[in-house]
Amino acid sequence: MGETTGIQWTGSTWTPIRARHRVTGKVGWHCTKPSAGCKFCYSESLNKRLGTGEGYTPNAPVDVFLDEKMLRAPLRWRAPRKIFVCSMTDLFGEFVTDTMIDRVFAVMAASPQHTYQVLTKRAERMRTYLCNHEVGARWAFSGDRKPLVCAGTAVEWTRHGLPNVWIGCSVENQQMADNRIPVLLNTPAAVRFLSVEPLLAPMNVAFSQTSTWSAASDYRINGRRVDWIIVGGESGAGARRCDLEWIGFIVDQCKAAKVACFVKQLGKNAYAMDKRWPITDSKGGNIDDFPDDLKIRQYPA
Ligand code: SF4
Repeated sequence: MGETTGIQWTGSTWTPIRARHRVTGKVGWHCTKPSAGCKFCYSESLNKRLGTGEGYTPNAPVDVFLDEKMLRAPLRWRAPRKIFVCSMTDLFGEFVTDTMIDRVFAVMAASPQHTYQVLTKRAERMRTYLCNHEVGARWAFSGDRKPLVCAGTAVEWTRHGLPNVWIGCSVENQQMADNRIPVLLNTPAAVRFLSVEPLLAPMNVAFSQTSTWSAASDYRINGRRVDWIIVGGESGAGARRCDLEWIGFIVDQCKAAKVACFVKQLGKNAYAMDKRWPITDSKGGNIDDFPDDLKIRQYPA
């Protein structure tokens, strides 16, 4: 899936993990739904219409595979881009093998001109994978035994991960924030980020000044903290309500902690003071519709 995108916080999307229907042979995508934010997954809707035709269930009759042409596409893109990795699925889904992940990371390591944005709901698997210090070696010689990075090229793998790869988690409610943010903070990464979308309820992502994580509201571990927060309401068919006060609460917390904040969209069913907030596009993504205090689209330094 393709190069250009309407997702405001990135430049391109790149989903080399694909799926083929075992009966019809139709090619699309696959995923499963680990939490409430997935209820109206846009990728699943698209896959039902234009892909394998299946829903995102563990028993879908599909085979997941790595699309070789798509895998290598960023190596051909000479000009630097921001690239959202696996926008149509989850790179750390249980249906993706370690070898597939190795090869995706090998391409990211081999194209340092790009900035990759890896976003998952499977924070634990991502941490386990990225804490394994053998993975750096695997990125150089992974997959089909033909190295994607030549033998003489050192992969810059440090305890901070690859310098051109931002690592993020989706959190849609307080429970997911409490579960996933501490895991994210214990994951090696050059830049850590949260996608708080769809925002389904008020959420505390407060950052304290202490050096030890001690409570659900204190998202800082051993000096590590989140560098960037994207926030937005839900869009698409069946979109759930999002109150602008909830978005404002996230913005305020980012300001207080000096964390870069990106208000992506107000959502299809935006409310303020319990009244419907007018929007001029289907997602509430037109910044001209935002109240002034939510017109914030920052990136990490
Ligand atoms: S993890 Fe992402 S792609 Fe997968 S079902 Fe959930 S929202 Fe859809």
